[in-house]
Order: sequence, then structure tokens, then C-alpha cells
Amino acid sequence: MMLTVTGLSAGYDAIDVLHSVDITAEQGEITVLLGANGSGKTTMFKTISGLIRPTAGEIEFNGKPITRRPASAIVGAGIAHSPEGRHLFPKMSVEKNLVLGGYTRRKNRSRQRELLNQVFELFPILHEKRHDPSGSLSGGQQQMVAIGRALTADPRLLILDEPSMGLAPLVVKQVLEAVVEINRTGIGVLLAEQNATQALRIAHRGYVLAEGRVVLSGSADDLLHDSDVRAAYLGM
Ligand code: ATP
Repeated sequence: MMLTVTGLSAGYDAIDVLHSVDITAEQGEITVLLGANGSGKTTMFKTISGLIRPTAGEIEFNGKPITRRPASAIVGAGIAHSPEGRHLFPKMSVEKNLVLGGYTRRKNRSRQRELLNQVFELFPILHEKRHDPSGSLSGGQQQMVAIGRALTADPRLLILDEPSMGLAPLVVKQVLEAVVEINRTGIGVLLAEQNATQALRIAHRGYVLAEGRVVLSGSADDLLHDSDVRAAYLGM
């Protein structure tokens, strides 16, 4: 077991958005979180990453409690978060945006270089454009920078919040293929995705959130064939 979230409640200004949520994410798997807008996916990710303090519950990573630890310590423990909306520095070069992820986790220069090269191997277009301002890239390429920046933190678990938001179907496919590649290198992935069918096809397991509660969970294959999920999220 890699990530275990138990009885997690969290929200904003003393109003809980998540209500006693239990989820786990296994080492080496892609775990997908489905749910309508406002169901609490982003809130869950921010709470796991230490950006929001939970009002109840426990979060364990590789057997160690990380609940209420500062965000920097959680990155240090091996969890990197690529946020919804990318949040790049548009005037800074692609390469500078990428290495920013590495600053959050102490490591030597040669390891930093190695991680950057791995990102360039995964996304060759970013190597080609490494000196260009990130704001000049296409939406899909900017998403690659946002994922790559999280990877330079050398994570064991990568949290991706809606990486395909606003992207054309072909680009969505490329981004999800990259997620599979990343997972093949042994990095666990926790993914929120609006493209539920495509996400379930690449995932191992999934959870459906509604109004801050887990309403369904199971293997990705079971969810893909579940009539409630098909009706509510897969448009079938
Ligand atoms: P989306 O796909 O729209 O990001 P989500 O499933 O990620 O949806 P959250 O962003 O976690 O959902 O939002 C859950 C609830 O928390 C919503 O009702 C939202 O209005 C509320 N919320 C989100 N951010 C804040 C905030 N900064 N302050 C107060 N309430 C917020």
C-alpha cells in the first residue's frame, strides 16, 4: 500500500467539502478519481498535498503519517502535485519552469539533471522548445511542462488534477499515454479526469466522488461496465 486516506474531512472556512472520505492508491497503479464539477476532487488533492488542513481523518504514505505536515515535507516524502490549471510561469523558459519542481526536494545536481533528461525523453517536444517561454507553447505542451515540473521533484506518487482540461481529443490521448508511460517507470498516479471513459481505460482502480463522499469504487474495469457510472459519467 502506498497512500491510505482514512475518514478524511476537509474544506474551506470551517465548512467541510469532503466528508469522511476513504481512498487508497497502490504503488505502481493508476488510480482515477471521477466526479462532477464541485464534487471535491481538487479539495482532496490539495489536502493530501498539505495545502489544506483536514478537519478530521488520517493520511498515510508508505506507512508513515503525513496528515497536517507542511506541503514541503509532503513533497519531500515523495508526493508531487500537478495542479488544475497548470500554473506555469509564462514568461520563463520551459526548462526553468521544469527545474522549479526540483527545488522543492533536496537532491544533488546530477540527480536533478537526470530527472530533467527523463522529462525530455518523455516529452521530446519540450527539449526542442526548452529555451522558449512556456506561455508560447500550445495547451497540450504547457500541460506536459506542468507534468514534467512535478516529475523533477522525483516523486513516488504523482497527483494529476485534470491534466486534459481544455485540450483537443488527440492531445488528451497523448497526455493520457504519457501518464501510462510515467506509471510504467514505477511512479504511482492519482488522477482526476473529466474524460471518464479514457481515464478508466488507462487506470487500474477508481473512485467516484459525489458531494464530497465516495459513492462508488472498484477496479477500473468494473467501473467502466457499471451501469450507474455509464449513465452518470460516460454518457451511455
Ligand atoms: P472541479 O472539477 O470544478 O475542480 P472538484 O471536484 O475538483 O471540481 P472542488 O474544486 O474540490 O471540486 O470543489 C468542491 C467544493 O468546494 C465546491 O462546492 C466548491 O465551490 C468549493 N470550493 C472550492 N474551492 C473553494 C475555496 N477556495 N473557497 C471556498 N469554497 C471552495
